[in-house]
Formats: sequence, structure tokens, C-alpha cells
Amino acid sequence: MKRYADVIVPLAIPGTLTYLVPDDWKQDNLTGRRVLVSVGQAKIYTALVLKDFAAKPEKGSPRELLELIDQSPIVSEIYLNFYLWIADYYCCSPGEVFLSAVPSGLRLSTDTLIVKGEREPQHEIEDDAFMILDALSMQDQLTLTEISAILGRKSIHKLLTFMHHQGWIAYGYEAKEKVKPRKIKWLLLPRELQNENSLKLALDELNRAPKQQEMFMAFLSLCDWFNGILKPVQENDLLAAAGKNKAVLKNLTERGLLLVEETNPEGINAGPPPNKPGLSKAQTTALENIKSAIQNQKTPFLHGVTGSGKTEIYLEFAAEFLEQGKDVLFLVPEIALTSQMLRRISSRFPGDLLVYHSRLSDGERVTVWQQIQRPGRERGFLILGARSALFLALHNPGLIILDEEQDSSYKQHDPAPRYHTRDAALFLGHTLKIPVLLGSATPSAESWYLIQNQKFERIALDQRFGNAELPSIQLIDLGRERKIGRLSFPFSVPLKEAMDACLAEGKQIILFQNRRGFAPHIQCQSCGDVPQCPYCDISLTYHKYTNELRCHCCGHSTAMPNSCQVCQSSDIQLSGLGTERVEEELQALYPTLACDRLDLDNTRKKQAFAQIIEKFERRETQILVGTQMITKGLDFENVGLVGILNADTLLYYPDFRASEKALQMLLQVAGRAGRRDANGKVFVQTFSPEHPVIKSLLNNDYSGLLEAEFPDRNKFEYPPFCRLIRLELRHRNQENAYQDACWFAESLRRALPDIRIDGPEAPIVARKRNKFFQHILIRIPRTRQPGPIKKHIQKLALTRKKMGNSPSDLFFDVDP
Ligand SMILES: [Zn+2]
Ligand SMILES: [Zn+2]
Repeated sequence: MKRYADVIVPLAIPGTLTYLVPDDWKQDNLTGRRVLVSVGQAKIYTALVLKDFAAKPEKGSPRELLELIDQSPIVSEIYLNFYLWIADYYCCSPGEVFLSAVPSGLRLSTDTLIVKGEREPQHEIEDDAFMILDALSMQDQLTLTEISAILGRKSIHKLLTFMHHQGWIAYGYEAKEKVKPRKIKWLLLPRELQNENSLKLALDELNRAPKQQEMFMAFLSLCDWFNGILKPVQENDLLAAAGKNKAVLKNLTERGLLLVEETNPEGINAGPPPNKPGLSKAQTTALENIKSAIQNQKTPFLHGVTGSGKTEIYLEFAAEFLEQGKDVLFLVPEIALTSQMLRRISSRFPGDLLVYHSRLSDGERVTVWQQIQRPGRERGFLILGARSALFLALHNPGLIILDEEQDSSYKQHDPAPRYHTRDAALFLGHTLKIPVLLGSATPSAESWYLIQNQKFERIALDQRFGNAELPSIQLIDLGRERKIGRLSFPFSVPLKEAMDACLAEGKQIILFQNRRGFAPHIQCQSCGDVPQCPYCDISLTYHKYTNELRCHCCGHSTAMPNSCQVCQSSDIQLSGLGTERVEEELQALYPTLACDRLDLDNTRKKQAFAQIIEKFERRETQILVGTQMITKGLDFENVGLVGILNADTLLYYPDFRASEKALQMLLQVAGRAGRRDANGKVFVQTFSPEHPVIKSLLNNDYSGLLEAEFPDRNKFEYPPFCRLIRLELRHRNQENAYQDACWFAESLRRALPDIRIDGPEAPIVARKRNKFFQHILIRIPRTRQPGPIKKHIQKLALTRKKMGNSPSDLFFDVDP
């Protein structure tokens, strides 16, 4: 009897495709395995089998599958269903989910380029392999289609896999991203010295080598020996603390007084020995409450102020699962995946940690996919990742942790699927029947609503860990400063005084300004012209470092003009304050101090982010200026002052979440101060001291702000009181976009008379990358099932596609 298979192809086409299973394939269940299929004329893709079955499909006569890639499934059935749910809920195709979920190294296709590998065959090889290598000696790269043509057959994957394994060939993307992993050197106290007597002898022995003795003492203090703890110490830290003399350090290691271990900063198989800090009483209680919430079928929500030690609780809980052989998925916002976090976790779970996020190369991601299959492994894996780690098909899932659940980077914007990691994780946990632990210092409005309705169980941690106290927040009313005639910006008089005092105490400073570049606007003083991006409705930002104007929407850049492009006047004024300018003014103010900057512009290189953070940690930098990048997950011991230079830039966004987001960010920034002692200070500069967000910040009353907002959100039908779907239409022609959107909105109103549909409306930035945008907003009451409504919209979208001759591109954003 003939068998057929439904497969997901990595293309943005609706639904799945059906193929005929070749007669000689003996496997009785193909679900979750990869196969090669041909689509259209000459395209070959790697597809994922959803299911195979015996009944002949009603339409057409399907083509045969070309080749079976996997001997066992790479995605379990439950994860396949999860991918389909994502496609369904977020209104995209299963193929788009597949593209997002699986790294391209696991989906060879017609477009994959094959290049020469690092090794050459040492002995005679079979003809087909020889023909491929021969062709590669004549041209640099081949496509799969070309290789098929050379060999005269379509089934080539097995051969290519073999050759790749031998190192004779490489895939094109690998050649592009050969980044040498940076190693971190750790210093450890050898086991035989870990008691007081032998240590004393060792110190005596050093009496005649004072420099070595000094460095060794510095090591003991850094590793906290005197408090009975043995933390691994980074080589750089020791050198910074004890006189940068590498020869002295070498002597110490040669004497066997210090052990050196090297680890990969990305954490895989990271080496330093685990030391297990105990939980405080409050943390222990919180962990118990988490467990009992899970037993009562509730989703536990760990609500802990910044610096309360949530991470320790997560790790303690995770350890229990790892020991039982279960995998733990630990999701954090992309930006929080810093070396700090990795160091902390990899020293706790050496050998158990896998890291997965979009800054990894494709090859590194493929490695993680292969490792999670973990044949023969007893312990579970701790997978630390950003949102895309949610798609990793875990072998034996036990727990999902999602920290900073309010963070907007959990929502994917482009391309589809435009999923929200928190909501998808909750669904995944439900189908896998495993607990999902959420955590935040400032819960999203959606989660707060579910806490109020007892869907989530709130577990509170109101105290900071150890002796630290929440920082005191001081407001600087810039309007008042102006009135009394001493307005100075960006550093007001009180802020400047506080900075001086902080530096005099030897403490460090963080300054927050949420605009990058030098000046957000430039304007001709003669004709008033503000240069705009030619492709977007956005004014260009001046970047002094590169002396160019840049669009923060599409990346377009152009040299800074000497005179106005309109009237040729040379009187061009810079206005507004970006991080570059803050850095420059700081250098003028404190010429002898080291300042650094943390924003998107200077962290594009792979290790740049970690390097800036590490320099600040080692106290080589005194002042760090940054955008929201500095707000998340960073933990510095020595920060005495945090300055928010202009809170107003956060307050007036035309978005229903503006207040919520602004207060979240301000509290996060403020939380960077005084994490280890009581003296942390926060200065907030604003022209709007009466704004509800500022008042809530001063009273440290986050939930109060949410609850004050809820009646309005309810009345005007915004989440969490209803669900939103935003349709976005994009077209090169403004009129086309508008006409399409009008037709769409009207048809929707006719099809769904009892659903509120707003628009079309052009968004604030109505043109991006030379395309015009129109939005339609659909509000679905909480009492209605969204599924059938989405089906209606998708049906209309298909009709529209068939009608017009140049329809706009249509994008769904569910829960925007
Ligand atoms: Zn002008
Ligand atoms: Zn642009």
C-alpha cells in the first residue's frame, strides 16, 4: 500500500504539502524527521515530516520524497504541534515557524552554498565525491541544484553529510562566520592548599618573594577565602588588583600555588568549580511557595524587587530538575545574556549549561540542536537562552523559567511568526505538562491582571538580598532649576554635586539617556529645514564619531553636510541629547577620568558588549553612559550613583503601554544603584515632576500605577481587557496602501459586525524603507474566542490577494 506524508517546507506558503513516500523506505513512522523534497521546477528544500498516512489525498498525484535525512526524529510530536499552534495563533504559515525555529545549518536548500572544506581526502574516494571536489577546484562554490546536475541525481544529502563530516566540504554560511571563541582564564586554589595549615606554610614559603606573596594575598582576598568562600577569580581581575605583573603570576602558577583553567565565555563546558551559595530565609520561603503553587496547578509568579536574588532561586529550583535528568529552559531578555550572567551560571552548573540566542553563529546553534538530543546523558541540560530558545525541541523537558517577563524583547516583531515568548511558553508548558515559572520586579499589565484574577500566584520578595537597601530616589525639577536661573544640562547643579561626591568616595556612576548618537535632530537656523531620511518619515540623527547623519529606522547614512541642503546656510544647529554627546561632555567635565558608553552603536561587534561591561566591573571605567542596554540584568558592586538625565523622553510615547513601559525602565535603571550596600543614590532629571509615572517612581509604587490605569484601559478597550490584532499593510504607493486598507477595513466591518474595528490609520512613522504603512486595529473581547475571528480575517486576506493586481503586503500582528 502506498504511503503519503504531510511536510512543513521552509517557505511562507499556507499550510503543509503532501508527498509520496518511496516504496523502499522501511521506517514505519516518519514524524519529526527531516526529508529532502523538491518544490516547483528545480528547488530542493529540507522539510519536516508532520505525519505519514496510508489514505491517498483527494487532490492531485503527489511527488515522491527525495531523501530521508534523519534516522530518528529531531523534533518530537509535541513540539511539532507547538509549531503548528504558533502558526495558527499568530496567523502565519507553518513554514515561517520552521524557518524561525530551526537554524539554517539544519535546513539545506537550493540556496545553500557548498564550498571547499579544511581537509582533503587522504586516500582514494568514491567517484561521486571526487566529482564534487573536482568541480569545487574549478569554481569556489556550488549550489545543491548544481551538485544534483553534476551527479545526475537528486538524492545527494547523504553523500554531502558524509563529506561534510570528513571536513572535505563546508557549507557557505560556516565559511563566513569563523569567529575564534575568546577564552576566559580563571585562577583557582589547588585542593591541597584548601586548609589553613598548608596555606600558612605556602605563605611562609613566599616570605622571600614579596611580590608573589602580595599577589597571592590579593588572590585570597578576591576569592573571599577570609569569609570561608572560594570563588574562582578571573586572571584579569587579579592582575588589575595586584599590579599587572604577568611574570609574578607565572611564578605563582609554576610553584603550584594557583591553578589556571580556561573557559569559553559562552559557557559550554565552563570549568570553574561549583560553589553553592545558600539561600537566605526569604529565598527559601519563596522557593517553597513556588513549589506549592505548582502543586495547586497555579502558575507561580516570582515578584521580587531588583536585587532581591531571584536568580539564586531559579538556579536552586533548576538544580532539582537537572539532577532528575530533566532539561530546564531558562529564558531571559536578549540583552541580559551578558558574560556576567553566564559566568554566574556556568560556575554553578559546569557541563550542564547550553546557551542559545540570535547572536550565536548558525554553526553554534546547530551544535546546540545536536547536543540537546544528548544520547547516553543522565543529567538534564540547563538551556539559557533568549526568545528563540523556546523552539529547541528538548529531549526531556522539566521546567521553563522566564525572567523579566515584562520585557518587550520577548515579542518578536519581524519576520513572522510575531509571537510573544511569555504567552507561547505558557502554552508550551501546558502541553508538555511541565511548570512555567515567571519572574519580574515590574510585572506586565497582562500578568498583573492574571495575578489579580488568581490565574497566577504571586510570590513576593520585598527585600533586597543581604544588607542592601533600595536606593533613595531624588527628583530634580529642571523647570525649577530654570526658574532659579541655574539650569544646566545635561548635568544639573545637584546632579553634578552628587557625581563629585560619589567619585570622591571612589564609587562608580551610571548615567542613563535613552537616545543614541550625538544629537537626535539637526536644524538649519536660517530656513528651519530638518534633514529627513529619504526612505522613512524620520529625521536623521547626527553621529559625531563617524561624522554622519543616520536613520535609526532603516540604517541609511550620509555624510554630515557643511551647509543646509535647502538654503546653503552654514548655520546648522544640533539639538537634543544622545549618548555620544553625554560621553563627550563628561570627558570635558572630568578630563582625567575614564568614561565609557554602552549603546547599539558600539556593541555591534560580537564581544564589544562583554568588554565594556568587564572594564566597568574591573573599575577601569568610572562612569558608564548608556541607553536601555544598561538597565537589564547587570549587577555591579561599586555603583554609588545612577543619573537619569532626561526622564521626559520616556513619558510621552503615543502608545497605550507608554506609562507602564516608562516606569518599568526607570525602576530598572534605578535598581542598578547600591546593589551591595546601603548608599545607592538615584537622581532623576525631568521637566514633568507631576507626571503620574514620576510620582509612582518616587513612591516606589509600581502596581499602584497599573491599577490606576486599569479603569481607562477597560473603558477604551485595551489589553489586558481585550485582545488586539493589528493588520499592517505596506505598499510602495501611498494611495494603493490606503485604498487596500479601506477595502479591508470595510469588508471586516461587514463580516464581523459585532467586533470593534478601528482604522485604517497611518502610524506615526507612516513610511519606512520607502514603503507606506496603514494600520487596522481589531479588538476582541475577552469573552470571545479569537480563533474563528482570525479565520475570517485570513479568508478575506486570500480573497483580496486574488482580486487586486498589485496588492499591499499584509502583516498580522496578534497581541501587538
Ligand atoms: Zn536652510
Ligand atoms: Zn530610513
